[in-house]
Amino acid sequence: MKIGVVGTGHVGSTFAFTLLLRGLARELALVDRRRDKAEGDAMDLNHAVPFARPVRISAGGYETLQGASIVCIAAGVAQRPGEDRLSLLRRNIAVLREVVAGITAHCPEAIILVASNPVDILSYAAWKLSGYPAARVIGSGTILDTARLRYLLSRHYRVDPRSVHAHIIGEHGDSEVPVWSLANIAGIRLEDFEGYEPEAHRVIFEKARDAAYEIIRRKGATYYAIAVGLARIVESILRDENTVLSVSTLVNGYHGVRDVYVGVPAVVGRNGVERVIELPLAREEVEAFRRSASILRGVLDSLDL
Ligand code: NAD
Repeated sequence: MKIGVVGTGHVGSTFAFTLLLRGLARELALVDRRRDKAEGDAMDLNHAVPFARPVRISAGGYETLQGASIVCIAAGVAQRPGEDRLSLLRRNIAVLREVVAGITAHCPEAIILVASNPVDILSYAAWKLSGYPAARVIGSGTILDTARLRYLLSRHYRVDPRSVHAHIIGEHGDSEVPVWSLANIAGIRLEDFEGYEPEAHRVIFEKARDAAYEIIRRKGATYYAIAVGLARIVESILRDENTVLSVSTLVNGYHGVRDVYVGVPAVVGRNGVERVIELPLAREEVEAFRRSASILRGVLDSLDL
């Protein structure tokens, strides 16, 4: 099993490190515009192999990706002082064009896993630019937001986060939507669970939604949790686990929303997104989800894809 990583910055290199520790790949291929960075990462990671499990790690140009079954895109450029969001987005689309061309030239059968932001927009663009079936182009979507929500709820209700079943759907960003109507612990809706406080839920959701701002303010970037989330997606694909994960995928008629990539729970297995799970949302959740998706559609309309 060979996994490629394009963009070995904070996220890409931590993702590679996570794969190494978890023994998920036999081979890792690292590509970055700064070739020295990818090469340095490959050397450093290779030196950890004697403490972990056998894996061959190489770095180089796009030809290094040959034979990869999954390629993660974590390449991106940062905002320049005074730069607006649209101009930043256009520069990131330009990066994506180059990256997708490199992937399609060497891995026509691979699954593309997009982590770069804005992830829903770039996943849609990667799908369009690659010409791959939508099942094989997956964005990390709201997987991280969902993990943050489950973690914070687990602290409030004093249970293992893995026992908290809750999802954030929609844009990975400011308009995302917590699905409170279906959130539960052991099948018990949270509003019936001991310790329920609506105000606490509001604060918890805001903390989950705004976590990236808080982390970036403190240390400049977020990478551990997203790296482990990406590895979880990879694991579900490689082991054909059919795990339900909140990823960004193409929806066509999801509560009336079509032709956007947006975060929804999906069954992830050997073929990528095997199917999307349509949640029986409450009315106000449907409205919030549609609003979130329409923001994404508006951005896509402003681009020339
Ligand atoms: P970073 O600046 O540390 O790394 C980006 C890397 O991309 C750099 O090493 C850079 O050299 C490389 N790069 C730039 N242009 C390239 C090109 N044309 N070809 C190949 N490589 C290129 O940034 P980071 O903190 O690692 O974040 C990477 C991306 O992941 C950002 O878009 C960030 O917003 C996103 N992110 C997403 C999530 C999520 O939940 N989806 C979470 C955290 C970060």
